[in-house]
Amino acid sequence: MFGLMQQHGLLISGLIEYAARYHGDTEIVSRRVEGDVHRSDWSTVERRARRVARVLDALEVAAGERVGTLAWNGYRHVELYYGVSGSARVLHMLNPRLHVDQIAWMINHADDKVLAFDATFAPIVQAVAPRCPGVRAWIVLADAVPEDLRAIPGMLAYETLLAAQDDLYVWPGFDENLASSMCYTSGTTGDPKAVLYSHRSTLLHAWGAALPDVMNIGARDAVLPVVPMFHVNAWGIPYTTAMVGAKLVLPGPALDGASLFALMDAEGVTFAAGVPTIWLGLLNQMQHEARKPQALRSVIIGGAAAPESMIAAFQDRWGVEVRHAWGMTEMSPLGTVCTLKHKHLALPAAQRMAVQTTQGRPLFGIDVRVVDADGRDLPWDGRAMGELLVRGPWIMADYYQSGKPSPLRDGWFPTGDVVTIDPDGYVRITDRSKDVIKSGGEWISSIEIENIAMAHPAVAMAACVAVPHPKWDERPLLVVVRKPGATLEAAELLAFYDGKVAKWWVPDDVLFVDAIPLGATGKMLKNRLREQLLPRA
Ligand code: AMP
Repeated sequence: MFGLMQQHGLLISGLIEYAARYHGDTEIVSRRVEGDVHRSDWSTVERRARRVARVLDALEVAAGERVGTLAWNGYRHVELYYGVSGSARVLHMLNPRLHVDQIAWMINHADDKVLAFDATFAPIVQAVAPRCPGVRAWIVLADAVPEDLRAIPGMLAYETLLAAQDDLYVWPGFDENLASSMCYTSGTTGDPKAVLYSHRSTLLHAWGAALPDVMNIGARDAVLPVVPMFHVNAWGIPYTTAMVGAKLVLPGPALDGASLFALMDAEGVTFAAGVPTIWLGLLNQMQHEARKPQALRSVIIGGAAAPESMIAAFQDRWGVEVRHAWGMTEMSPLGTVCTLKHKHLALPAAQRMAVQTTQGRPLFGIDVRVVDADGRDLPWDGRAMGELLVRGPWIMADYYQSGKPSPLRDGWFPTGDVVTIDPDGYVRITDRSKDVIKSGGEWISSIEIENIAMAHPAVAMAACVAVPHPKWDERPLLVVVRKPGATLEAAELLAFYDGKVAKWWVPDDVLFVDAIPLGATGKMLKNRLREQLLPRA
């Protein structure tokens, strides 16, 4: 017997209609590429998103066709999020930090018909436009087309286009399983792979993200996604904030500690989300100012492992709650979040911290397993290391037109992350399967080695990579960037491992470098590092 309830589709347009109706005067504040601070609100964003839909009608972009964006976090990007997906087209966020060859490849692979871009990305557009004949219109997110872009065929200005349309547009209804947006993974080998999100998966993820043990945000919050809107929909924050009616604060290109501090402080930001490298900058600025941004109460650290020293600095020094989170482009991205349970609150500080350095437990909607190389389930004892498999309604079923069979195994997505799971379901990411160090048939967690190094006061950044070894196959080598002015030497740092890990986990050597290569999403590029260190024999 079926229930007798309405079949009302979960559509992205529903989010913006809700935000405009019930939180219309709640602000969207953006630091613009132009350098100034711009103020909008949910009602204005919704009205302008309707104009975006009208512009796409006028450009004859059909339902299901792709509209690319090359843009920072800003109000116009939010308008595109809603105008494109809400009108049944598919938003394709491109990462401007990638190489132009990759960007051109992605535009062509996705078959983008329109590409909207911030004026700062004009050089990228100039380089890719001749190679992307399928793009009918290039829309610069500005008042007018700058002089140096006028020669490109199909070049238009966003504000001129919007001004020429009215906002008499009614958001259409359609199947919630239709595609809403897409994003290419930041894979370091082979062609990038595209993940194609649906309206339903996006709304369910946004709902999950709002929960108290996840982002815990509501209408009284001011939320700053430092995570870019071109990387996994800024962890869904533009959707979750609309769902709960929060104020949205968007930093544009200025992601250094001083700029973030100033914006957070001025706009009363209560909650922010970003990768560890970003938080290093903010913590330095907090140290410099000897205070925190006035209203900041909580941050999510994800995308790469949060070192204990960083969690401790936020919490103990500044009283800012840290939630360590793990996810993937293929998972919209949220999978696990580390929020303590009641029983943890009474634990001694060191044991509480041991829980907080895990990537946390799955939120409702996500199922996890840890398996060995033969696919057999491993115990949830916090010790057995194996590959993490996941499934759930906002996890990818297949890549878009990859030309390969779906990577799913019996309905489970193999994450490529090596983990342990404890009896409460807290997952600890010990490595990417390609980064784990296999020494004498046993595994050494490169992330744990890095976290210990990061706890040393003279270390700014640390990467642990495997180097070939005649007896043990592989041994760990630690690569370290010292803090400015610090005089750390290898022996001192290696002695710092005493008593913290098994002796055979201690790196064989330390190499001091000026910089560790970072990828387009702020993660350490260990492949590149290995290539630099170990030129092909
Ligand atoms: P991406 O799809 O580019 O967001 O990358 C996802 C990958 O980043 C995951 O498979 C993990 O290897 C890594 N990752 C994400 N969050 C964390 C975290 N909190 N700790 C360690 N690794 C993480």
